[in-house]
Amino acid sequence: MSSPLPTAVPVARCREEKPSVHIPIHRERGQREVFCGLTGIIWLHRRIQDAFFLVVGSRTCAHLIQSAAGVMIFAEPRFATAIIDDRDLAGIADANDELDRVVSRLLERRPDIRMLFLVGSCPSEVIKLDLSRAAERLTKQFLPQVRVLSYSGSGIETTFTEGEDACLASLVPQLQVGTAAQSSEPSNLLIVGTVADIVEDQWTRMLTTMGIRNVQFFPPRRSGDLSRITVGPNTRVLLAQPFLANTCRMLVERGATHIPAPFPLGVEGTTAWLRAAANAFAVSDPAFENATQAARARGMRSLERHREVLEGKRIFFFPDSQLEIPLARFLSRELGMHLVEVGSPFIHRQIMGEELSLMPEATRLVEGQDVDSQLARCREARPDVTVCGLGLANPLEHEGLTTKWSIELVFSPIQGYDQAGDLAELFARPLRRKHLLEPELPVREALPCN
Ligand code: SF4
Repeated sequence: MSSPLPTAVPVARCREEKPSVHIPIHRERGQREVFCGLTGIIWLHRRIQDAFFLVVGSRTCAHLIQSAAGVMIFAEPRFATAIIDDRDLAGIADANDELDRVVSRLLERRPDIRMLFLVGSCPSEVIKLDLSRAAERLTKQFLPQVRVLSYSGSGIETTFTEGEDACLASLVPQLQVGTAAQSSEPSNLLIVGTVADIVEDQWTRMLTTMGIRNVQFFPPRRSGDLSRITVGPNTRVLLAQPFLANTCRMLVERGATHIPAPFPLGVEGTTAWLRAAANAFAVSDPAFENATQAARARGMRSLERHREVLEGKRIFFFPDSQLEIPLARFLSRELGMHLVEVGSPFIHRQIMGEELSLMPEATRLVEGQDVDSQLARCREARPDVTVCGLGLANPLEHEGLTTKWSIELVFSPIQGYDQAGDLAELFARPLRRKHLLEPELPVREALPCN
């Protein structure tokens, strides 16, 4: 039996500028089954190439980081865990001394590090440590060579992708303050959220072709570039990731203007996202077409063979990465999938408003989680694909459901036109694999797994 859904709030109440949207959001407040914010280190350390992430935590944190990142280490890792054990409970002063010793040893061994993040975690002995103070103390010691910052990736305070939000929020004070120019014309476009380098290059080319010259990405590839990023009243902020509410708020508090837009997933999402930037910078329609047309056509072609597999299939999203709503919009509108349920840990109305206006009206949206009742609904619905965290995937696979790990969607380059086909492939592949294993199941196309 599926459990009854709790309270529903009409979106229109929160988004007065979009009164036509009436998709109810069902709120759940029960046990959650999501990663903690430490996981963000895995993609952040790849993006900021001279940064090091030192988790101050327990053996559990070390295991999480190692097992989540272990297969992805290509060179000397740029993350580690300083394990606080029972001995450190003896005195906080000792723990601070120990932390200073660990950091000194690390920076001595790794002269390539320019920015060091102390990342807090859950254990009570870590919570007692004031990591922001430790970061200030260590910055004084190691500047100008290394700047030390801190943020929390604790599972008590953050879920999965919120770790990136906390990390970027800790970087905002490092950005240059832009002074108000006499004109209110936008001076720079700041794209916020970690994306793959290849995606950054594609967007830079397209936006420059449109005539938007001053495009900056936050976080940048190297920490030294932070001081070249200006944020002020003439800055326009475009989010590349949906889970950056705090970072966005801090940038707006500095005078920047947030450009509301859907997220650049799929051809439609990427076009609407680029169009929002173009409108903010008064780019003409012909200039927009000229810059985007070829890539848009390529993106649409790349979706065709996946649509044949995915069209009409039913998909269920457990809440995990906050990417669920843009992904669901893409799968439903561009690939014809049927949305059984779309769960998200949080739904920020300001950030998600444009996405919500594109969702099919009958979509069952759930904010938060009560994992047992959600599992019951999923089992009853028997969707063709279930998107969930690693912890739920194996049991559901054992029950015969086809799953997709939500973490893979955060690790992979999926934004933009040239990645639209790869994104669709991530959902089509498990169905193709299942068809190869159980050929009597109806799949419209029996292409081999890539
Ligand atoms: S939930 Fe807490 S204790 Fe567990 S890995 Fe994450 S930060 Fe460490």
